[in-house]
Amino acid sequence: MTIFYKFGGKMYINITNGCMCDCVFCIRKNGDSIEDNESLWLEHEPGYEEICGAFDKFISENSEITEAVFCGYGEPTVRIDMLLKTAEYIKTHSRLKIRLNTNGLVRLVHKDFDVMKFKGLIDAVSISLNAPNAKRYNEVTRPKKEVISGNAEEYAFNEMLKFAEDMKKICDTSFTVVDVITPREIEECRKLAESMGIPLRVRAYVTDNKSYT
Ligand code: SF4
Repeated sequence: MTIFYKFGGKMYINITNGCMCDCVFCIRKNGDSIEDNESLWLEHEPGYEEICGAFDKFISENSEITEAVFCGYGEPTVRIDMLLKTAEYIKTHSRLKIRLNTNGLVRLVHKDFDVMKFKGLIDAVSISLNAPNAKRYNEVTRPKKEVISGNAEEYAFNEMLKFAEDMKKICDTSFTVVDVITPREIEECRKLAESMGIPLRVRAYVTDNKSYT
């Protein structure tokens, strides 16, 4: 079972296959893994001891690694407590810089979560902006009904933007979009990101997970 894997010279951390969205571009639709790694579908959600043991083994075999990324085949913040405990273990047992790749919707499922808990553990966050407005966000990201039901159409989009504003106060924060939206929408995303003082990276949509970026 693959909890830690190497990608682009960094150590990626795969603690859950759960997610509150169903993005049209999700790489999980295109295969079981990235590059030549083993399947990223987890047989079970790993516990703390299992994660620590896997980290110790991985890092002893890959001592050149300088950066860790919470990403994997799911949204890491679905397991926010385990994410924090894992980050704390990594910080205590290594000098790795830690980045979180996230959809920014943690507070849709963990309503009282205080982002200040990331302070000192997460050095950088990359948030999926995905669209320039709520309507397109819902079409591209497709938040699941159980997390948005009964709320306004803007709910998830606004939550993600609010999360980005809050994270900007405590660590390096950036946005991404995947080029499944139009060039004009990408430009609108750029303007929105600029207005928030957050850099934007445009990612190419790939259907071949071996050339994923
Ligand atoms: S948020 Fe990430 S894991 Fe979840 S559906 Fe979108 S791309 Fe896939």
